[in-house]
Amino acid sequence: MADPKGFLTTGREVAETRPVDERVKDWNEVYVPGSLLPVISKQAGRCMDCGIPFCHSGCPLGNLIPEWNDYAYRGDWTAASERLHATNNFPEFTGRLCPAPCETACVLGINQPAVTIKNVEVTIIDKAWEAGAVTPQPPERLSGKTVAVVGSGPAGLAAAQQLTRAGHTVAVYERADRIGGLLRYGIPEFKMEKRHINRRVEQMRAEGTKFRTGVEIGRDIDAAKLRKRYDAVVIAAGATTARDLPVPGRELGGIHQAMDYLPLANKVQEGDYVAPPITAEGKHVVVIGGGDTGADCVGTAHRQGAASVTQLEIMPRPSEERPEGQPWPTYPMTYKVTSAHEEGGERVYSVSTTHFEGTAPEEGQAVGNVAFLHLVEVEFRDGRFEPVPGTERKIPAELVTLAMGFTGVDRDNGLVEQLGLELDARGNVARDADYATNVPGVFVAGDAGRGQSLIVWAIAEGRSAARGVDRMLTGASELPAPIRPTDRALAV
Ligand SMILES: Cc1cc2nc3c(=O)[nH]c(=O)nc-3n(C[C@H](O)[C@H](O)[C@H](O)COP(=O)(O)OP(=O)(O)OC[C@H]3O[C@@H](n4cnc5c(N)ncnc54)[C@H](O)[C@@H]3O)c2cc1C
Ligand code: SF4
Repeated sequence: MADPKGFLTTGREVAETRPVDERVKDWNEVYVPGSLLPVISKQAGRCMDCGIPFCHSGCPLGNLIPEWNDYAYRGDWTAASERLHATNNFPEFTGRLCPAPCETACVLGINQPAVTIKNVEVTIIDKAWEAGAVTPQPPERLSGKTVAVVGSGPAGLAAAQQLTRAGHTVAVYERADRIGGLLRYGIPEFKMEKRHINRRVEQMRAEGTKFRTGVEIGRDIDAAKLRKRYDAVVIAAGATTARDLPVPGRELGGIHQAMDYLPLANKVQEGDYVAPPITAEGKHVVVIGGGDTGADCVGTAHRQGAASVTQLEIMPRPSEERPEGQPWPTYPMTYKVTSAHEEGGERVYSVSTTHFEGTAPEEGQAVGNVAFLHLVEVEFRDGRFEPVPGTERKIPAELVTLAMGFTGVDRDNGLVEQLGLELDARGNVARDADYATNVPGVFVAGDAGRGQSLIVWAIAEGRSAARGVDRMLTGASELPAPIRPTDRALAV
């Protein structure tokens, strides 16, 4: 235990964010760079090195949190980084983007603010990169086996890195023009600057992983032929089928899926556009859906200069305290204020959209543009949301983004049919405890198998599927033991 009295003498301090007025004028990460550096070792010293570290099971990766907290407390950043990488390929992603279910499982959190695990994690990895301690780890010998990974999000990257390091020849196929999946096109720059992905991809290239962008398996290459060409295939294609809102007026201009809106803002930052083809500038924006994707639309709309931003959620506003049915150490559904919410806008709970009202079509337009959104308050009764009579109203809505979640893997591009993959009842690729699908030699990891989830789970599953592949190819594997697909740990 680093500091036996740390949790008694030191209070929790989290990374400082830049002032709202300053940060909404740019796209850089919202945190003040290095703001925690002077105190991070003391923060790590609050860790009690518990006999049973519940944070391990809170983290889907099983990160060895007390071990690296101890090294961080002592200022041994190299050792801390080595322990961190023992379970996590990409701590710079999770350290910035994870909702940190480890912290809600921290034993100190029972009666005091939890250890700032996520902030310690990101500090360790940032320092390791700065010190040049994160270097390529090419395999000592090649196995002669080949693996294709379909999709370059966190699941595909983690699987590819593990398999390359195990000596297999790995090619990652990505339909987008850049590597990273939702980390690249979806999650805004202000949550994670894309230079972090580029740096990892360079490391992976130096280790021997090959990347093929702009290739959609199923469309550009027949998936069954891909299977024949490689000794194994990992499907890490995400759960990209977005849920729609089939209400009157949905066909109006100005109503877009969040994932048609957010990537364009990412592309402006990449230098592909001077201005985004869909922009919130000067518009009344309504975001439908209260999750991460919705919050990202809110923050993006603020930066584009929206006239107003309203976020709608059908569920009631969660409580600020842990609900009774979600005691420590589970991950509770509490009211969260993200950096995007700090920046303004209104959040409206317990409402449902009834229809959209539009302007008359202009010459050459088949339909007009959305102008208002009609909503009604709802109550949850007898297992369904019922409208509350007399609560109908309309709000201005000139740009509407739909952020209502995803319903599984893409079924339109031929990938599923050409391989003959079985899907489960939720539209995800079915798999067994070793992440193997019904097709011999084809494995699945991340959102494609799990359904829409988190980066930390995608990395955990990519690592686990890699072990399944390695075992199939070589008969045994020294890669870390998998997390079972059914194992929800304490996490979301
Ligand atoms: C807007 C948004 C914000 C989010 N914010 C957070 C957050 O802050 N924290 C968090 O933990 N989680 C967040 N999530 C969830 C998280 O991003 C996902 O759970 C995670 O990225 C899933 O990783 P994955 O590798 O399984 O899939 P993805 O990241 O979706 O990557 C799949 C990749 O496969 C490619 N692909 C698909 N089909 C094919 C094909 N046939 N051929 C070739 N390539 C193909 C896709 O183009 C994509 O690049 C967010 C999700 C969204 C949508
Ligand atoms: S990956 Fe997420 S859950 Fe795991 S230690 Fe980091 S912040 Fe916590």
